[in-house]
Parts: sequence; C-alpha cells; structure tokens
Amino acid sequence: ARVIERTKADKARLEMLAITDPLTLTLNRRALVERLDEEMERARRYGLVLTLLMVDLDHFKRVNDTHGHLVGDDVLRDVSMIIQREVRTVDIVARYGGEEFVVVLPETAEEGAVAFAERVRQRISEHRISGEEGEDALSLTVSIGVATFPTSGIETTDDLISHADDALYRAKAEGRNKVRA
Ligand code: GH3
Ligand code: MG
Ligand code: MG
Repeated sequence: ARVIERTKADKARLEMLAITDPLTLTLNRRALVERLDEEMERARRYGLVLTLLMVDLDHFKRVNDTHGHLVGDDVLRDVSMIIQREVRTVDIVARYGGEEFVVVLPETAEEGAVAFAERVRQRISEHRISGEEGEDALSLTVSIGVATFPTSGIETTDDLISHADDALYRAKAEGRNKVRA
C-alpha cells in the first residue's frame, strides 16, 4: 500500500511539473493553451465574455545587461508575484515566453479588464526590485495588450492571442508603460 501511495504522490508531482513554469511557478505555455481552449469553449457554449492580457516587460534586456541574469530572474519572479496577487482565483496566469506573461480573465469584458491591467501596470511601476531604496533602486515597467472574446475577428484562441499581441505592439510603439486594447 505504501508503494502505491508513493507512486500516486510521484505521479501528482510529475503532473504538476508538466504544467508549471519552474522560475515563476505560474502555468507554462502548453498548460495555458489547454486551459484557454477550455475557457473559450465554455464562453462559446454559455455566451460568456472573456479577456486575455499579454504583459511584456519593457526594455528587459537592459536589466540583464546591466545587473546580470540572476537579477533578471528575480525581476521575473517579482512581476509574476505582483500579477498573482491581483488576480481572482478563477483567473489564469501563465508565463507565455521569456519575459511575457498571459493573464486570462473569465467572464470579464474589455472595460473591467483594462481597469485591471491599469492596476497591474501601476503596481509594477511602483515596485522596487530587491528591496533596495534610493538611487540604486531598480524599477521597471510593463506594456499590456488586451483582447476580448467575443469581438469581430476573434474566433479561436490563436485569434485572441494574436489580437492581444497587436495591442501590445501598439502599447510599445506609443511609448511603453501603457495598456492598449
Ligand atoms: P521591449 O521593451 O521592446 O520588450 O524590449 P525588451 O528588451 O524587453 O525585449 P527583447 O525581446 O529585446 O529582450 C527580451 C529579453 O528577455 C532578452 C532575454 O535575455 C530576456 N529573457 C528571456 N527569458 C529570460 C529569463 O528566463 N531570465 C532572464 N534573466 N532573462 C530572460
Ligand atoms: Mg517580449
Ligand atoms: Mg520586453
């Protein structure tokens, strides 16, 4: 019986590892796509709205170049913690790429999602990394692209992600540290 318990625990641990980003302990990209497909299907079936946020760190390469990769990793963990602190339990947070996070807000329309994104943007810009104060204190900003389902031109999860990406591109082009829908 003990062997069976061990096997069960190992299996659960492996399943957890398979869906988790090891640095930030948020969902990894593969797990995000699975969950997002489910949420889109639910929205379609019950006529619900949902909104996706693409969050990208501004000039993050500079952080690595100036302070090193280990500090860069701290920054990624801090940003993911700030995001996770702001979300509801039903929301989905994932590390989508190197310095990009995706947040899915089920049953949330554009207006509410933009307000949420603004709050996250503000919190991150006010945050000081590694708890340092004064002139050496390291801070950074994020740009956020927002896309809502249903919207004309958005049918699939790929459409939703690509619209959020386009909005993110506009946030970057218009000066960074901005939310665009
Ligand atoms: P932009 O404002 O246009 O987004 O500029 P950026 O510098 O953030 O964008 P760019 O795509 O040029 O650089 C992203 C950087 O993110 C480069 C890469 O080294 C860094 N990065 C990606 N993954 C990790 C990671 O896991 N740890 C650390 N420390 N850095 C990472
Ligand atoms: Mg990026
Ligand atoms: Mg970036």
